Amino acid sequence: MRLSRYFLPILKETPKEAEIVSHRLMLRAGMIRQQSAGIYSWLPLGLKVLEKVGAIVREEQNRAGAIEILMPTIQAADLWRESGRYDDYGKEMLRIVDRHERDMLYGPTNEEMVTDIFRTAVRSYRDLPLNLYHIQWKFRDEVRPRFGVMRGREFLMKDAYSFDLDAEGARRSYNKMFVAYLRTFARLGLTAIPMKADSGPIGGDMTHEFIVLASTGESEVYCDRDLLDMPVPAVDIDFDGDLDPVVKSFTSRYAATEEMHDADVFGALPGERQVTARGIEVGHIFYFGTKYSEPMGAKVAGPDGAERPVHMGSYGIGVSRLVAGLIEASHDDAGIIWPESVAPFDVGIVNLKPGDAATDAACEDILARLEAAGRDVLYDDTEGRAGAKFATMDLIGLPWQVIVGPKGVADGTVELKRRATGERHSLPIDQVLARLS
Ligand code: ATP
Ligand code: MG
Ligand code: MG
Ligand code: MG
Repeated sequence: MRLSRYFLPILKETPKEAEIVSHRLMLRAGMIRQQSAGIYSWLPLGLKVLEKVGAIVREEQNRAGAIEILMPTIQAADLWRESGRYDDYGKEMLRIVDRHERDMLYGPTNEEMVTDIFRTAVRSYRDLPLNLYHIQWKFRDEVRPRFGVMRGREFLMKDAYSFDLDAEGARRSYNKMFVAYLRTFARLGLTAIPMKADSGPIGGDMTHEFIVLASTGESEVYCDRDLLDMPVPAVDIDFDGDLDPVVKSFTSRYAATEEMHDADVFGALPGERQVTARGIEVGHIFYFGTKYSEPMGAKVAGPDGAERPVHMGSYGIGVSRLVAGLIEASHDDAGIIWPESVAPFDVGIVNLKPGDAATDAACEDILARLEAAGRDVLYDDTEGRAGAKFATMDLIGLPWQVIVGPKGVADGTVELKRRATGERHSLPIDQVLARLS
């Protein structure tokens, strides 16, 4: 992609309304634009990252055996009347009336809808376990939308829903999502710690929030330092095998959100292992048994022929929140530092002298060869001062920069800069290509 033909509306000034670094950087790097409080357009650079995060989430859901569907954003209020949540949900739900005076709503979540899909299609335990998920926009009319896409009103969520015959089956489904989440966040370059969360009236130990530690996080959290560098299951983990030991290796160590915190248990840990920090909730998994299946009549016949309400769990990941979370976890004074797995482009090429035939030719050649090797490249072919070009590249945080100027080109070299460390090396062009392809 040539920058001269791209749409990258960089802001020179730091926007005053942005209180946290990810919000400032997303606005400055031209990733998003606010349309109303908590409602954003995703501009090209932001959209690329959003899609890359979504793709990793999707791959790991699929690997764990979940099946993708797509449910609508607009739902009928009647479904929510069946579960009793239409009245309970309160002001966070955006309620809409259509032209026939029917009550509709913009979905804040999809338990009711997926339960409806399930009950019309599945009757027997033979069709279980089943896990259906989608990646879809949600709307919650948050009292205090803030921090950009971190707490938006409209936001992109991956939500999965598992169906099992009994609580034992549901635990297996829960464990699969637990492991899928560990893998997902690790692939994004994040340390997300599963923490005991409040299960409310459902009770039990099957609810965890996945929390990324960050000083700007909205939750107060407590955990065992050991959890900060626990090994995460490899790609060949058998999701049909026994995942209990993996899950227990995490859940047997102390980690709790404020609501679940037990100061005595935490205080019994050796002092150097006690971590008290702020955290960002990037995912939440929850077993809720027959809470929806019972009132909505989602029943399956067991091996004995008797019908019973199906056991369900739900599993959310804040896809759009993660984009901001990634920046909170990885930036410096100059801008964003994307992990390679989600960087909007793999490489940026900076042409220091557009119009100079040899420099232009070298840039074109590098661009063509990197693209042929499957790299996603942003080529800054615009006129402008070198300083401003470097600042833009650092701000948007691509992992590698190739800096091409007439002097180097004359003796066949370019500069290769690694964004994360700031290291710069003058290298022969072929060596740079070999390194980046
Ligand atoms: P929070 O505690 O931050 O309000 P929640 O517990 O209400 O989140 P869940 O219902 O558990 O959210 O939804 C699943 C995931 O969706 C959350 O873990 C979070 O990553 C994401 N999410 C929830 N609300 C928002 C929001 N307003 N903006 C962006 N992402 C959100
Ligand atoms: Mg909330
Ligand atoms: Mg929460
Ligand atoms: Mg939650």
